[in-house]
Amino acid sequence: MNNDDFLSDPYSLVIHGDRDRDHPDAEDTALAPAIYPASTYSARSSAEFAAMANRPRHPRYYARYGNPTQERCERLLARLENTEAALLMSSGMGAMSTVLFAQVRAGDHIVAQTAHYMGTAQLLTELLPGLGVEVTLVDQRDSAAFARAARENTRLIVLETPSNPTLTLSDLAAVAAFAKSRGIATLADNTFASPINQNPRDFGIDLVLHSATKYLGGHSDLIAGVVCGSREAVEKIWQRSIVLGTNLSPFNAFLLLRGLRTLPLRVARQSANALALARFLQAHPAVARVHYPELESHPQHELAKRQMRRGGGVLSVELKGSEGDESGFQAAKDFVAALKLAKHAVSLGGVETLVVHAASMWEASLAPDEMERAGIVPSLVRIAAGLENAEDLCADMGQALRRAGDR
Ligand SMILES: *Cc1c(COP(=O)(O)O)cnc(C)c1O
Repeated sequence: MNNDDFLSDPYSLVIHGDRDRDHPDAEDTALAPAIYPASTYSARSSAEFAAMANRPRHPRYYARYGNPTQERCERLLARLENTEAALLMSSGMGAMSTVLFAQVRAGDHIVAQTAHYMGTAQLLTELLPGLGVEVTLVDQRDSAAFARAARENTRLIVLETPSNPTLTLSDLAAVAAFAKSRGIATLADNTFASPINQNPRDFGIDLVLHSATKYLGGHSDLIAGVVCGSREAVEKIWQRSIVLGTNLSPFNAFLLLRGLRTLPLRVARQSANALALARFLQAHPAVARVHYPELESHPQHELAKRQMRRGGGVLSVELKGSEGDESGFQAAKDFVAALKLAKHAVSLGGVETLVVHAASMWEASLAPDEMERAGIVPSLVRIAAGLENAEDLCADMGQALRRAGDR
């Protein structure tokens, strides 16, 4: 019997989906994967060397081209995203920049969102325009805006949903349908949802990207990125990654595979904790607004139900201001400083709950109007739920809101 029969459910898939019955390594009975630190691999004959050098994505040729642990990890990730293939890279930004370089050239046009992860936004608004690629940014809530912005030379639409830090959604099916009708490729950053809560491929998106640093790794101990898509598209991106040098380290491939074994468990718990926090904070008198797709009050809740299984592990809150602090800037700073359990740190998707005050994080890099366009009000706090006890998390947030209010 083929073990593929048991791989439709993510809980079984993450335990067994990296093994391939027909692969030369299938004989290996070790339950944990080996790590191959080798930078290069020897051939036993000239014919074998020619095969190694000329087969794309050979896992045992030269480590900038791939390595065996990475290959196992990619098999699992492709299955998790319902795509033919996956390519792991050195970071989420390594993956994003490599994909963009593979998809467009000078004279091409990209349609993307006004709200993107900061690094992606910089690639789209600073680096690519300097290389002759035109980029138009649209409000992701308006699906028709992507069509209105498209031109004769549009080659790619970039989506990120839910987007950072306001948990705003893009309609995957609507944008994919338009793009298909015009032969435009689509790319979705699926980091916030994780493959457990959303599979963009199922809605017609061509390329799915993750910062594997976040939920996929899940333990705040590695940096990695991945792109999933058709075998042909992923091979084209690989051709770029080997010259850009955005390959993953063998040790990080091992850590990532270890993290993936518990992905469905972790994300289920993080999603439940985020929902508990969202409900608790929404009812709190010091809170003005909670952004979380699974809340009925989210303006795109119906869309969330269509394309997401759960709301995910990230939410953001706007705190109420007070006299002398009308914007709530100080209230947000005081709240973050008063937390005892949640850690004050960037990133998300790890086992520990992390909190950041968005306006202080982006103060130096974003002008006030850019901040406003990205939905970052002065009192906005982003919360990435970890695996702690939900009541402890709510109690911690409650005491911090009380202490912030006392000042
Ligand atoms: C973190 C993140 C990235 C960048 O990933 P790195 O692994 O830090 O390079 C890209 N997109 C989103 C949505 C992210 O959260």
